[in-house]
Parts: sequence; structure tokens; C-alpha cells
Amino acid sequence: MQPIPYSKQEITEDDIQAVKEVLQSDFLTQGPKVAEFEKKFAQYVGARYAVAVSNGTAALHLSVKALQGEKKTKIITTPITFSASANCIRYCDCTVDFADISPDTLLIDTEKIYRLLKSAPKGTYSGIIPVDFAGYPVNMEVIRNIADEFGLWIVEDACHAPGAWFTDSKGVRQQCGNGNYANLTVFSFHPVKHIATGEGGMITTNDETLYKKLLLLRTHGITKDPEMMHENHGGWYMEMQELGYNYRMSDIQAALGISQLNKADKRLMRRIEIAHRYNEAFKNSSIKTIIPQDYLQHAYHLYVIQVEKRKEFYDYLRANNIYSQVHYIPVHLMPYYKKLGWKKGDLPVAEKYYEQCLSLPMYPSLTDEQQQYVIEKIKLFYH
Ligand SMILES: *Cc1c(COP(=O)(O)O)cnc(C)c1O
Repeated sequence: MQPIPYSKQEITEDDIQAVKEVLQSDFLTQGPKVAEFEKKFAQYVGARYAVAVSNGTAALHLSVKALQGEKKTKIITTPITFSASANCIRYCDCTVDFADISPDTLLIDTEKIYRLLKSAPKGTYSGIIPVDFAGYPVNMEVIRNIADEFGLWIVEDACHAPGAWFTDSKGVRQQCGNGNYANLTVFSFHPVKHIATGEGGMITTNDETLYKKLLLLRTHGITKDPEMMHENHGGWYMEMQELGYNYRMSDIQAALGISQLNKADKRLMRRIEIAHRYNEAFKNSSIKTIIPQDYLQHAYHLYVIQVEKRKEFYDYLRANNIYSQVHYIPVHLMPYYKKLGWKKGDLPVAEKYYEQCLSLPMYPSLTDEQQQYVIEKIKLFYH
């Protein structure tokens, strides 16, 4: 059996053709393909606006920057995520506070968020960054209610969850990134994610003011929009109004993104199919799986199990050419965050989860035969 990774991009002939066309056109960096990708991605998630950027981390940084400005406060996120969800807070010189996860969903525990906010003086916190971990959509209506009570903004880190949705209390289906509850939602197009552009990211929103702010910050804080400029000296004139960045996406990446987006729904269906087969295989076993509630759609960026003897199991799978992975080492236990005062024991649910978690192969091109092989090997270990 060929090595089976935990995740893998899928590039087809039409993707290659789309990139080739851009290479032969007049635009390499931000041009018509970026605008087209933004429009199509906004439509896909049901948001009014989308801003394409150079990667998911840049999307997080710009989002916090746009909402927070120069204010230095505390911002809450989850410890079970890629470190970028917390690092973006530090980029803006704000303080990271972690709320522990719920063992049932592995998502940030809303009661713990509430407790943090209740116990602090008003103005201590200004935002929440919930993460749709593994593709399980956070109930954004619940988070919105908490945020409103305390006057906070929300940046939803949906890097794992394009295509996911939950049903709100009115029975309305809420697509991840549609801008109805979160101020801003962030996506990544790293090759292990649902849509691959090499490097790439997207921010979606329904807020026009924030949208314009993001456009400005993405390109050095420079504008050429006559309506926004303080002066106008002629055709060459532009103004740098804020300290922005170069976080642009290129047209090469956007062309790949558009081509990949066309296949996103079909590939999400395949991920769900694979998840159902795993669920079926592991029910009534010692392997703990997360079965999502039925009023939502899980996007299955990852298929996470929790097991005893995780290290032996990981090594055993590797010896059988199955390259599973751990998502994640809790962010608060990274040396950088320990230096800031976090320590083992601070977030017990996340820490216990870390001892047992493993992500199994989950990607649309995983064949039935490969998945069967993985399942059989697992059953031999935990018979
Ligand atoms: C991948 C990822 C990011 C960062 O995205 P990049 O495009 O790699 O910068 C942020 N948050 C989460 C949860 C991710 O999985």
C-alpha cells in the first residue's frame, strides 16, 4: 500500500489550465481573477463581501487589526486550534485569553467564555475568535448573544469549515461565513484545507465599512479612491492613510481558487461519505469519535478520534504506511505562550483531549480501498 497521508490536495487538469491562462495574461498579481474569486467565494458562503489575501494567517491579522485598531485589550480564543488563531491577537499587541473546550464538540466552551467575561471589569475584553475545529461549525448565534451582552466583536476562524452550516433557533440554515452573526469570517487555502491555492486566504463579511477597511489594510493602507482621499493632485495621486501591509493574493492563486471552488460541493460530499464510513466502523468500539448533532453540517477538514495508547497507535499506523497526525498540541502549552504565563493544568479538557487525539486520513481522493485498509489496520490494533 502506498503511503496514506492525513490530508492531501487534489489538482486536476482544469486547475492547471486555469493557472496557465493567467500566466499567459497581462496580470500576475492582483487583477481580474482575484476580483472574480472574491465574488464567487462570497456567493458560495452567502456573504455580501469577500476580501482575498495572501494566506489564512494574514486574514486573521487583518481582521483583528480592522476591528481592534490600536486598542490593547484581552481577546478570547480556543487552545485547540492552529497557533495562528491566537498569534493574530499578539500581532496587534493584545493579550490572548484561552477558554477551554467542550469535550462533546471539541469547540470553545461558551459557558467558559461567559464565565471569563462575567468575572472581569467592563472593557477588559473586546473580541472572541471561535474556531470551527475540524469543520464542526460553532453555533454562532450563541456566541453572538454573548458578544452582544458584553459589547464584543467576533472573528470566526472557519479555516476548517467552508461549506459547513448550522441551524439557528429560528430554524434558518446559517452557512459558515455568511456574515449574519460573525463580524468577519476567515478562511485558508493552504493545500491541506478544502480549497487549495498554494498559499491563500479569504475574509467574508456583510459590513461595508469593515470591507473597505480590509481593502485598505491589504495594500499598505493606500487608496486611489477619490471619495476617500483628503487631496487630489492629479492622475498619479494616491494616499497612504494607514499603516497597512502587502497581504495581496496573486491572480495565479485566484485562478486556481476559482477552479477549485467549482468542485468544493462535490468534494465536501465525498468527505461526508468518508466520515460516515469511519463512524460506522468505530461504533461500539473503544475508539471515541465526534458524531455531530443533526441540525448542522460538519465540513470534515479533519476526522478526529480519541484513543488510549495514542503514541503506540500512531507509531503502529506509521509502520503500516498510514500517516495520521495530531491536531492540535494545545496552543497555551507552546513555549511562546508558556513564557507569557500559561502552564499545564490551566485548561484541563483541552489537555486531556491532546493526550488521546489523532486525525485519520480524510481527503476527497482517499479511495474506498484505502479507507478500508486504514479501518482494518485500526481494528487489528484495538480488537
Ligand atoms: C490553516 C489554519 C490557519 C492559517 O492558515 P494559513 O493559510 O496556513 O496561514 C488558521 N487557523 C486555522 C484553524 C487553520 O487550520
